[in-house]
Formats: sequence, C-alpha cells, structure tokens
Amino acid sequence: MAGLVLADGWLFTRLSRLKVLRSQLRQFATMISGSMGEIMSELQTLLESLYQQYQQHQEGELACYIPELCKANPNWFAISMVTVDGQTFQVGNCEQTFTIQSISKVFAYGMALADHGRDTLLTKVGVEPTGDPFNSLIRLDEDSKRPDNPMINAGAIAITSLIKGNSSTDRLNRLLDMFHRYVGHEVFIDMPVFMSERDTGHRNRAIAHLMLNFGMIDHKIDEALDLYFQQCSVLVNCHDLAVMAATLACKGVNPLTQAQAVDPNYVKDILSVMYTCGMYDFAGEWAYKVGLPAKSGVSGGILAVVPNQAGIAVFSPLLDEYGNSIRGRRVLEALSQKLGLHLFDLSMGGCGLQDAMDSDSPTVIVTP
Ligand code: GLN
Repeated sequence: MAGLVLADGWLFTRLSRLKVLRSQLRQFATMISGSMGEIMSELQTLLESLYQQYQQHQEGELACYIPELCKANPNWFAISMVTVDGQTFQVGNCEQTFTIQSISKVFAYGMALADHGRDTLLTKVGVEPTGDPFNSLIRLDEDSKRPDNPMINAGAIAITSLIKGNSSTDRLNRLLDMFHRYVGHEVFIDMPVFMSERDTGHRNRAIAHLMLNFGMIDHKIDEALDLYFQQCSVLVNCHDLAVMAATLACKGVNPLTQAQAVDPNYVKDILSVMYTCGMYDFAGEWAYKVGLPAKSGVSGGILAVVPNQAGIAVFSPLLDEYGNSIRGRRVLEALSQKLGLHLFDLSMGGCGLQDAMDSDSPTVIVTP
C-alpha cells in the first residue's frame, strides 16, 4: 500500500512537471511562430483529412421511420472538437441544425439523477446493457419492475416521466434550461419533427403502455411521451454537441461559458451508462474499438467524451443498422486510434490529443 502511494506521488510529480514543461514549450512556440493558429494546425489538419476521406462514403439510410427526418440531406457532414480549455477545431457543416434525438437521453438522465438521487433512481431504471436495439420492447421481467437502462427508449421514457416540475410546461422548461446550460445558448424545439414523431411514434407508445401494465411508470404516459418527443426534437448543431460533450469531459462545467450544467457528482454515473449502453447493441464493439463514452441519435449525431480533455461530435445522417451514423462511427474510430484516445490505451496514456494540439510530437499523427 505504502509502495502504491509512493508510486502514485512520484507519478503525480512527474506528470505535473511534464505539464509545466509542455506549457513552457507552448509559450515558447507561440513566441517564435507569433500565431497560436499555426501551433494548433496539426489537429485541424487531421480533422480535415478525415472529413475528405469519409465524405466519399455514401452508405447508410436516413431515419425515415420518423417521416420528417427523411427530409435530411444525406451529404451533410460535420466534425467538431471542443477542448476543456475552450478551443474549437472543426470542419464541414458545423452550423447545420438537426434534432438531438436519443443524445438527449444522456442529459435527461443527468437531470433525473439530480432530481431523485442515485439510489432512488436506480430502483426505477437499471444500468444494465441489453444488447438489444434502442427501440426494443421491454423485457418482460416482472421481478425487476424497471427498464434495463436509461439509453434504450423504454428507460428514457421512464426517465423523462421522472423529471420534476409543477406542470408539463414547467418540466419542459426545466429540460430546455438544462440544454441551454450545456450548449451555452437558448435552444428551441423543431415543431415539425416533434409533431411527426408524436403522430407516428406507435412503437414508443406501445413501450409506454407495456411499462404502465408492469407498474414501471406512472399513469401519465401521454404527458411523458410528449415530453420525451419534445426533448428528442431539441435543435442543435455539431458544434453544440461537441460543447455538450466537452462539458461532461470538464466535470459538468461548460468550457465556453463556465456554467455548471450538471452536478459534478453525477458525471461519472452519466459517463458510465454512456460507456456501457450509449451505442445500444453496438456498445460492446464501440467500447472495444473506440473506448470512449458516447451517445448517438437517429438524426445522425454522435458525441463522445474524452474525460478531462475534450468533447468530440460528428454529424452525418446516414445510419447503420443499429441507428448510429456511419461516418460518425468511422471518424470516431479513426480519431480514437490516431490520437490514442481509447480509455484503456495505456501506451498512449491519453496524451495523443494534447500532443496533436501542441504539434510537438509529429509521430503521433498518421494521416491517411
Ligand atoms: N426519438 C427517437 C425514438 O424514440 C430517438 C431514437 C434514437 O435517436 N435512437 O425513436
């Protein structure tokens, strides 16, 4: 034990000295180049080359089961990265808005944790990955009386039904205010998408009715479904998603506005569930290949969190059979590999991203 403590202390001192050295090097590089832009260009170049490479890929399907989402342009493609010190690197259609869809589940879960506390919430919604598609009907497990996890639709509808408020408007406003803190500006609902899903979301209605039957949710299911469809229809762009992910990477503090978006105590709960359940029945392969907590939505967004370092988002509406953006998957796989971002890639020690930003370690980047 004493040895461990000693080793830890030694490591900490070494890391702190390395950090000081790195920041001195950066200051020196700034002095001699006269421009921070030049120093940052290696990471920007990497994003641009991935954009060029994957823009050619045209496979995948739009999420036409929500008729309004079928109007998306299949060529839309954006990559955005926001670091915990507030720098942005991005390429493509970063200003193009789209609905957040299932990515909202992550943030609603954070609000339900704050509203009820970890232990109470665990009695209502589990944290067990299912290996089933996001919209699968609930497993008829009469013992547990709770949906498996908050990332599949059943769990997410149950979570939304637990958001506190005096009225449905109050609950919606609390959710919108929370999104505001995460993105740093007011957010709006895409009414046509909301109405489109409200009119056609029979499967989600069936899930809610089954949960009511098994006593997993209270009787106000129409209200819960409306709020769920509204939270899924919040408009964001790719940069917004990267800021949201960076906020989680930064212990719940928005790195652009310094607003505390969520209680820091719950960030680890949110990230754990994203890691194990965020990519649905692709979550295992994602954890294996990318190794970052992430969440996707059927309008084509994916966000991934690099703890203590950055948030990364990709937007491209062509989806694979799991409902995940294909270009998004590929870009995040490539970024994780090239920058050594996988949480268990101990050889890189998580320093690939910092190195790419600093441009003082050209061997890290292997551009295609
Ligand atoms: N609103 C969508 C639904 O419930 C969200 C699904 C998703 O993004 N995976 O079907």
